[in-house]
Amino acid sequence: MKTLLEPARQTEVFAEVDVCVLGGGPAGLAAAVSAARGGARTLLVERYGFLGGMGTAGGVTNFAGLYGRRGGQVQQLVRGVVDELLDRIARLGGLNDPQDGLQGRIRVRSYDIPAYKCAADDFLLSAGVQLLFHAVAAGVVMDGDRVAALLVETRSGRRAIRAQQFIDASGDADLAHFAGVPYELGDGHGSALFPSTMFRIANVDADRARAAIGEFKAIDALMEQAAGRYRFPRRGAILRPQRNPREWRANVTQLANERGDAVDATDARQLSAAEVEGRRQIVEYMRFLRAEVPGFEEAEIGDIAPQVGIRESRRIVGSYRLTGDDVIDGARFDDSIGLNSWPCERHEAGRIEWGFARDTDNAFNQLPWRMLVPQGVANVLVAGRCASMEHLGQSAARASGGCFVMGQAAGTAAALRVAGRFSVAALQAALRDAGADLG
Ligand SMILES: Cc1cc2nc3c(=O)[nH]c(=O)nc-3n(C[C@H](O)[C@H](O)[C@H](O)COP(=O)(O)OP(=O)(O)OC[C@H]3O[C@@H](n4cnc5c(N)ncnc54)[C@H](O)[C@@H]3O)c2cc1C
Repeated sequence: MKTLLEPARQTEVFAEVDVCVLGGGPAGLAAAVSAARGGARTLLVERYGFLGGMGTAGGVTNFAGLYGRRGGQVQQLVRGVVDELLDRIARLGGLNDPQDGLQGRIRVRSYDIPAYKCAADDFLLSAGVQLLFHAVAAGVVMDGDRVAALLVETRSGRRAIRAQQFIDASGDADLAHFAGVPYELGDGHGSALFPSTMFRIANVDADRARAAIGEFKAIDALMEQAAGRYRFPRRGAILRPQRNPREWRANVTQLANERGDAVDATDARQLSAAEVEGRRQIVEYMRFLRAEVPGFEEAEIGDIAPQVGIRESRRIVGSYRLTGDDVIDGARFDDSIGLNSWPCERHEAGRIEWGFARDTDNAFNQLPWRMLVPQGVANVLVAGRCASMEHLGQSAARASGGCFVMGQAAGTAAALRVAGRFSVAALQAALRDAGADLG
C-alpha cells in the first residue's frame, strides 16, 4: 500500500456545544431532539443536505418496528419523540395508514420522502437543535479516553466541533471508529446483510396492480414464472403502493461484491461499484414489470435513491451485544431503554430469511442501555444500526423503530451526563416522562 504524509494544520473551530450528534437518520433525529429537550446545546452533523438517513437517502419510505403484538393485540410499542415526528409527517399529508403483512405478524407505516425531509427539519429546529449539513465527519481529536473534537470536511473547508458528549448515529460507526472503539463487521464469515438500491415506480394503474399483486407475496409467484427470461438478484420482492396509489416502492435489488458476498459498505471501491450495479438491476426489473405484471405496462422509474441502501456495516463492541436469541426469546433487561418488536430479517444471498419471537402474543424484546455504551471511550454513545449488537440481533433492531428507541435514549443520556445527573434510573425516569414505553 502506498502512503503519503499529510502536512499538519490549524483547524478552525466551527462550534463548541454540549452534545454533538453525527448523522441524521432515525437514531440521530431522536438523539438530537432528546438532547436538546434535556437542556443541552446540541448540534447535528449530516453529510447530505437533508435528514432521514436511510429513510430518505436510502429510499426506504417505510417505518418498520413501531408496532408489535402485546397481550395478543397488535399495538404501537415504540413511543416517545417518534410520535411527534409521525404527527408532523401526517400534517404534511405524507403518512400512510398502517399496513399489515406476513400473515399479520408485522405492521408497517409508509411515508412520502419529501414530507419526511420537511417534517424532520421542523422537528429538530423546533427543539432548538443546530444543523450542519454538507459536512462529512473525517476524524477526531482525542484527549486521553475522551473525544475532544470531531473533524468535519465542509464546503467552507475542514472544521472542528468541540463537545462534552458525542453521539455516533452515523449508521457506520464512523465517529466511534475514528476514536478507536472496537467493532465487528457482518456475520463473521465475510458477509453481512446484503444492501439494496431502493427505487420508486411511477404511473402504475393502481387498481389492476392491486388486483394482481396486492397480496404480500403475489409478486414472488410472477417472478418465479418469469425467472428464465430475466436476471433477478434475489427470490421475491417487496412491492407496495405509496400514499399516492399510482406510485409504488420497490425493494428487490441485491448487491454483492466480486466474491458473491454482501458489498462491504466500509470499502470505497465496492461501494462505488454497487451504485452502478444497483441501477443496472433496476433497469432490468422494470423490463420485467412492464412486460409481465398487470398494471405496470406504462410504469416508469419515479426515482432512484441517492445512495445504495446499507442495512449493516460496522457494529461497535459495547458493554452488551444484543443477540438474535434476545429477539427470538423476547429478552427482558433491568436497564431497558425501550422495545424492539421487529423480527430478525436476514438479507442473505438471493433470499430473505425471517426469525420471529417465540411468544406470538408478546412478540417483543427490551433493548438494554448497555448496547449504546462503547468500550474504551468515555464521552461517546453509539445509537442506531451500528450500536452494539451481534449480526442476528442487528438484523432486527436495525429497523427504524429500534433506531428511534436507541436515539432517544442516547440523546437523553447525553444531556443527563452534561448536567452531571446521569444514572440508569434517572435515564429510565426521563424516558418514561417523555412518553417512551420501556415495557
Ligand atoms: C434497502 C433498505 C430497506 C430497508 N427497509 C426498511 C423498512 O422498510 N422499514 C424500516 O423501518 N427500516 C428499513 N430499513 C432499515 C433502516 O432504514 C435503517 O436501518 C435505519 O435507517 C438506520 O438508522 P440509523 O439512524 O442508525 O442510520 P442511517 O439511517 O443510516 O443514518 C445515518 C446518517 O448518518 C449520516 N452519516 C453517515 N456517515 C457520516 C459521516 N461520516 N459524516 C456525516 N454524516 C454521516 C448519513 O448520511 C445518514 O443520514 C431498510 C434499510 C435498507 C438499507
